[in-house]
Amino acid sequence: AATSPDTAVDPALDTLRRVFGYEEFRAGQRAVVDTVVAGGDALVLMPTGGGKSLCYQIPSLVRRGTGVVVSPLIALMQDQVDALDALGVRAGFLNSTQDAEARHAVERAFVAGELDLLYLAPERLRLDATARLLGQGEIALFAIDEAHCVSQWGHDFRPDYLELSRLRERWPHVPRIALTATATQATREEIAERLGLTEAEHFVASFDRPNIQYRIVPKDGAKRQLLDLLRTEHAGDAGIVYCLSRASVEETAEFLTAQGIRALPYHAGLPAHVRARNQAAFLREDGLVVVATIAFGMGIDKPDVRFVAHLDLPKSVEGYYQETGRAGRDGRPSTAWLAYGLSDVVQQRKLIAASEGDAVHRRRLGTHLDAMLALCETVECRRAQLLNYFGQAGEPCGNCDTCLAPPESWDGTIAAQKFLSAVYRLDRERNQRFGVGHVVDILRGKVTPKVRQWGHDDLTVFGVGDDLGEGEWRTVVRQLLAQGLLAVEGSHGTLLLTDASADVLGRRREVRLRRDPERTRARAAATAK
Ligand code: ADP
Ligand code: ZN
Repeated sequence: AATSPDTAVDPALDTLRRVFGYEEFRAGQRAVVDTVVAGGDALVLMPTGGGKSLCYQIPSLVRRGTGVVVSPLIALMQDQVDALDALGVRAGFLNSTQDAEARHAVERAFVAGELDLLYLAPERLRLDATARLLGQGEIALFAIDEAHCVSQWGHDFRPDYLELSRLRERWPHVPRIALTATATQATREEIAERLGLTEAEHFVASFDRPNIQYRIVPKDGAKRQLLDLLRTEHAGDAGIVYCLSRASVEETAEFLTAQGIRALPYHAGLPAHVRARNQAAFLREDGLVVVATIAFGMGIDKPDVRFVAHLDLPKSVEGYYQETGRAGRDGRPSTAWLAYGLSDVVQQRKLIAASEGDAVHRRRLGTHLDAMLALCETVECRRAQLLNYFGQAGEPCGNCDTCLAPPESWDGTIAAQKFLSAVYRLDRERNQRFGVGHVVDILRGKVTPKVRQWGHDDLTVFGVGDDLGEGEWRTVVRQLLAQGLLAVEGSHGTLLLTDASADVLGRRREVRLRRDPERTRARAAATAK
């Protein structure tokens, strides 16, 4: 909207450099930008963090008129507009959070042709006033962000998005660009159909990050495991360590510092100037480690992050992919390392149970967590599984932990039956529910005070599981939870049987378990003696 395309040799590249301060387009951006600048429709599938925004922002600036962006992420609009403002781009938004005065100011600016970008909440599309308003200004393009929301079969359907199909009839000559980070081939076709994007060119960026080595290890003293990783493989490297809570961020940063590793904390509870200082240090200095909650990383573009480590389980594969994706932007070998254990599974299930929102929302959170757990427990290639999750094909990669050291699996049916029947016996003691530790004590035949107090040494399952060590039992339980053969209830994390447990107890279902590599090694060492 602001540049004069006839004078610049390459207006898109010129805008990228002059306005946004970036040297080059990323893989995939250039072709999309060229298509939309030339007036064509586009459907863009690109991973989160891949750089979708520029795909419509630059054409909005290069073409005459205002780029109208439909986005369901209302909470982010103010930030997006502020960030654009800071770059000298004229942007505004219309959504339910603003008062009439602010709304009118944006509307006036749009009609006067003084906006490069206008962000719209989807529910605005239903209003006649919106249609009238859009008719009064000049539109450079329509961008439909989070386009998978138009799909009824996806997990994020928004009825308002169906209104978007009308854009084509009303503005047949205005290019439209639909963008999403998650869509299988089927969803992509559905998006194209519902939005009337029949002529659109599809741009499907690969989600593969071949230089990132994915590794997921069982938690066993996570801070020490992390320290091992940093000392043996990443001495002097820049990296990000993600923790779930502010307290563990602080604790871990102090721990690393005490071990002689330069580490700074970052979380939303720190004063703004401390956060800004730590972030700036990370960007500027070499070999700094930032220990952070997931608040850190949005908009960070540091090419030489050599590792991303997770000390807690991410809530979803999307989150995991986005966070690990901050490693190795320069294409050089990098590590994505995650330590996870039974307590992570229990904690995440408890958080979901305690979360606000309705049953549908909780079920969605549960589905996300299940997919993350499946990735953790897989005996197949992690990368192939990740790519499949995003609807892309993947072959065994040779550069992830399961490819490099294929894990053993074993028949855990009998172990599962033992554990589940102990839970069943305990469940019959009305009103009193017990946690994992107590059940394992019973199975291993340990007479603890609690066991004695409840007379649990009289149970038929007492001592039937002394063939497995405590750690091995926790591995079994973690996988039973991950496979939905056992459930955790409420904020206390009590164990419950599921419908699927009955199949295991009734010998109708076999249970395959993954043997943790570290335990395999310990076993081998023990038998060698
Ligand atoms: P998405 O919407 O796909 O999740 P964004 O558009 O928010 O991703 O971009 C992610 C980050 O990458 C942002 O910080 C953005 O400024 C940065 N970025 C995008 N394109 C480029 C580029 N060509 N060069 C450098 N950084 C870029
Ligand atoms: Zn692999």
